[in-house]
Amino acid sequence: MIAASRKALGAEPTAGAVPSFRWKGKKNSRVKRWDLITIGNLSRNRYWGESDSQGVRSAICTCTLIQGGMFRLIVDPSLAKAEQMTAELDRRAGLKLRDIDTVFVTHEHGDHWVGLTHFSDAKWFAAPNVAAALNKTNKLPKLIEAVAGRLLDAIDIVPTPGHTLSHHSLRFDCEGMSVIVAGDAVATREFWRERQAYYSCMDFELSARSMDQIGDLADIVVPGHDNYFLNQTNPL
Ligand SMILES: [Zn+2]
Repeated sequence: MIAASRKALGAEPTAGAVPSFRWKGKKNSRVKRWDLITIGNLSRNRYWGESDSQGVRSAICTCTLIQGGMFRLIVDPSLAKAEQMTAELDRRAGLKLRDIDTVFVTHEHGDHWVGLTHFSDAKWFAAPNVAAALNKTNKLPKLIEAVAGRLLDAIDIVPTPGHTLSHHSLRFDCEGMSVIVAGDAVATREFWRERQAYYSCMDFELSARSMDQIGDLADIVVPGHDNYFLNQTNPL
């Protein structure tokens, strides 16, 4: 209303006025908060001067907790030892393993579901081809359920192929921002800036296109092996 009346009067915006900018997210969302449980790292990082040809440390993936009024969802359970997963969940959110009712796995690489069995009371979900690949391994005590489109009536399941062909990310609104939990569709912040895929990528061209799509959708990106960051392709 203020902008409209100024325009009607022919007034210029005052000096120092905030340029018009809108976050992509909606204020109204079933997601009430989200937290990183573990901040991931790569086994080798070319942006740290390390060769792609050899791992120099164990990889841990970024694990995210997303909470709504009716759900507590873990994305990519990252820690192999139950006592470690228990400690991080307590340290970061004050929760117990049994408090988690849903787990989503972005893709079938082992470091993204190594902690899945710690959440034995939860329902396990993945996109259909990811669920099929994992269920075929017979390494899990119960089936991962296939899900597409939307999860918990709160979160969009977005195909982000490239790193693997069946890779899926999650997108949700929280506090007016659009957040994408990208799994390995985005390895780290530096890989994102350069639109580069990790060395083990299945299809580099598809991966770059998925990153562009994430750039169109997200205010905040949660990469697979790094802290979260603002999508600076936003027109600030
Ligand atoms: Zn991966």
